[in-house]
Amino acid sequence: MIKALAVKDTTGKLQPFEYQEEVGVTDVLVRVTHCGICHSDVHLIDGDWGDVYPLVPGHEIVGVVEKVGVDVHSTQIGDRVGIGWQCNSCGACKQCSNHKEVFCKDNQPTCMGHFGGFAEHVIADERFAIPLPDALESASAAPLLCAGATVFTPIDQYTKPGDSVAIVGIGGLGHLAIQIAKAKGCFVTAISQSSDKEVMSRELGADDFVSAPAVGAYDLILNTANVNMQMHEYLAALKPNGTFVQLGIAPDAMVIEDITNLVDGNKSIAGSAIAHPHKIQELLDLAAQHNIRATVQVMNMSEANAGVEMTRSNQARFRVVLEN
Ligand SMILES: [Zn+2]
Ligand SMILES: [Zn+2]
Repeated sequence: MIKALAVKDTTGKLQPFEYQEEVGVTDVLVRVTHCGICHSDVHLIDGDWGDVYPLVPGHEIVGVVEKVGVDVHSTQIGDRVGIGWQCNSCGACKQCSNHKEVFCKDNQPTCMGHFGGFAEHVIADERFAIPLPDALESASAAPLLCAGATVFTPIDQYTKPGDSVAIVGIGGLGHLAIQIAKAKGCFVTAISQSSDKEVMSRELGADDFVSAPAVGAYDLILNTANVNMQMHEYLAALKPNGTFVQLGIAPDAMVIEDITNLVDGNKSIAGSAIAHPHKIQELLDLAAQHNIRATVQVMNMSEANAGVEMTRSNQARFRVVLEN
């Protein structure tokens, strides 16, 4: 049996929970050493995304492979690995064959319809247990698996070295986005209303810190805040061919006040979510090379309820990571 913490209803309280260990032929059983608490976990716990109970949250997992299925070839017992939002896919469709596993119709999330990382162990298909470079420390690497992957994908897709990137919102996602964009050779502007975040943003690598975007200044704007922006202001802030990427799913509608703001200059608005396994590997290698790390508050797994509350009330600076 696998020992975990589960929420059983919308009361939102994590309680001890056990489930049967079933390691498939291409699965690995990972002993969880660390698991970050993501805002998506809080949405799941609070029932914002439907009835997903019993729920074992946790999808920013670092641990050690303890058992492997008979057909596992990419990892071995004793390897340190990371597991993010996705823990399996069909492995046979066109998307999977092209290493675009996120787009597989049978994309299996780690903690929806499957039990996640608030646990002593977790099971994942070997393709989604990504080897962790030795240079990365486990606690500060755990948030790379979801928060880091989420911001890495659009920075990787839409920028080249020398581009100008604006990061809106300096929190769990934003503080990693600054470091990743900087490591990719971009000129990085942090945009935040909280002036107390300027010193920290610059320490993380931001070249500039502003409370509002400049006009015609950015090749990429990454909105990591879970709100919709004044789009006339943000589209005007893009350079020609620039892209505005929305990451959070804000509850209200995005409004584009004047479509000429989008049409003039061939600008784009895009969404983005998580990262394919080979892209997570690229991110982990970049993180090892450039010392990219999440700022974390480590708490014991037994304090998971308190950690969830800190995340829910935006008290975490910037990520709570649970440790076994
Ligand atoms: Zn997440
Ligand atoms: Zn597939």
